[in-house]
Amino acid sequence: MPVRNSQFAPRVTVVGGGIVGICSALSLTEAGVQVRLIDRDAPGQGASHGNAGVIGPGCVLPNAMPGLWRDLPGMLLRADGPLRLRPGYLPRFVPFGLKFLARSRPARVREVARAMEFLNRGNVDLFRRHLAGTGQEDLIRDSYFIHATRHADKLKESPLEQELHQLYGVETAIIGAEELRKLEPALSTDFKGAVVMKGQGRTLSPGGIGTALAEKFRAMGGEIMQADVLRLFPDDADGWHISTSAGDLRAPKVVLAAGAWSARLLAPLGVDLPLEGERGYHAFFPGASVQVNHSVMDNELKVVASTMASGVRVAGTAEFSGIDSPPSDARRKLVIEGGRRMLPDLGKAQARSWSGLRPTFPDSLPVLGEIKGLPGLIGAFGHSHWGLMMAPRTGQIVADLVRGKPANEDLSAYRSDRF
Ligand SMILES: Cc1cc2nc3c(=O)[nH]c(=O)nc-3n(C[C@H](O)[C@H](O)[C@H](O)COP(=O)(O)OP(=O)(O)OC[C@H]3O[C@@H](n4cnc5c(N)ncnc54)[C@H](O)[C@@H]3O)c2cc1C
Repeated sequence: MPVRNSQFAPRVTVVGGGIVGICSALSLTEAGVQVRLIDRDAPGQGASHGNAGVIGPGCVLPNAMPGLWRDLPGMLLRADGPLRLRPGYLPRFVPFGLKFLARSRPARVREVARAMEFLNRGNVDLFRRHLAGTGQEDLIRDSYFIHATRHADKLKESPLEQELHQLYGVETAIIGAEELRKLEPALSTDFKGAVVMKGQGRTLSPGGIGTALAEKFRAMGGEIMQADVLRLFPDDADGWHISTSAGDLRAPKVVLAAGAWSARLLAPLGVDLPLEGERGYHAFFPGASVQVNHSVMDNELKVVASTMASGVRVAGTAEFSGIDSPPSDARRKLVIEGGRRMLPDLGKAQARSWSGLRPTFPDSLPVLGEIKGLPGLIGAFGHSHWGLMMAPRTGQIVADLVRGKPANEDLSAYRSDRF
């Protein structure tokens, strides 16, 4: 393998240029660290491009909530349900599923909520600060996060949800059909009302934010390299070797932010993590004249509709089938049709489909910190449904960890050896 010149000026290397890697690279650069960011594609084109764009400081509820197990069989068995498990994948999925359910006890949910709130705190302002001066400041909007339901009996928060929202100062309101229609006139009249989270944010272009912040990083002196990272291993001189499709590199420290593929790079180092690639889909209706004023979740199909910079996007659902399996045409259609049911005025408007992998651990939290037993290798992956909104805070923490700055908060909830 050829050795690149940059070997002689080793830089802290961030592997993975999704929004988590980009925000980490930017925060490190702002702190005066020389950084190289490597991705096999252009930065920000993975899950970070296709998500629903919700940026919610108030998103503190994990996926595994008490009582969810009762709904799981129904969700899984319905072909048009929000959750799909590829039948052949069941044996591989069982250990993850059991860990997931074990974390739905209220005491555990409270711990996870605290750790989620910490990573989401101030996220809208942090994005605004990052975007300042890029010319793309308008990509962030103040927004409600509306959870709309077709079933009047589901128009409520559980006592635990209420407790956590109160604890973290998340203002919520329950509204009926009429009020929902005033907020979102384009929504189907099938919806009977919604739980509204106020004081949240959203972006008009998740991919646009990634591109703008990657450009800012480059303009500040950061290096962006396009290559496949094949292997990571510690070198004899207290640093890391990075074997890539474009040659071998060295770095004093590596930040691993390769999303759903991160565990694959750790496995040869003897680290076995229950990280799943949780496939989600979006349908994009370019140029649609339908206007969605906020982020609106269809609580039954678990997709979020919002008006983006150049059309309406409807994004969500969850599919577990392994990170190498192709997207399912049936799920693509389901999300397109789901969008049309949610927003009837979309009619037969043309739709484009996309899918991507959320990096998901059973407890809804990422790995964030030095990987146990591997000094100088800092993990920042596994942000599941919240990777966009948690990225700026994650980046700040990564910058502190790389520079050995003591954390003011207890980061043990994100340890790599917690499973
Ligand atoms: C349908 C859907 C809706 C969502 N909605 C929201 C939402 O509204 N709000 C929110 O906060 N989050 C949302 N998410 C989750 C969010 O998108 C993810 O958590 C987030 O994008 C993860 O970012 P990341 O940087 O960790 O991973 P990614 O964006 O996947 O980036 C990882 C990068 O690593 C690169 N890479 C991997 N392996 C290698 C290698 N070996 N060599 C070189 N490069 C490599 C990949 O090319 C990729 O660019 C949603 C996700 C989906 C799928």
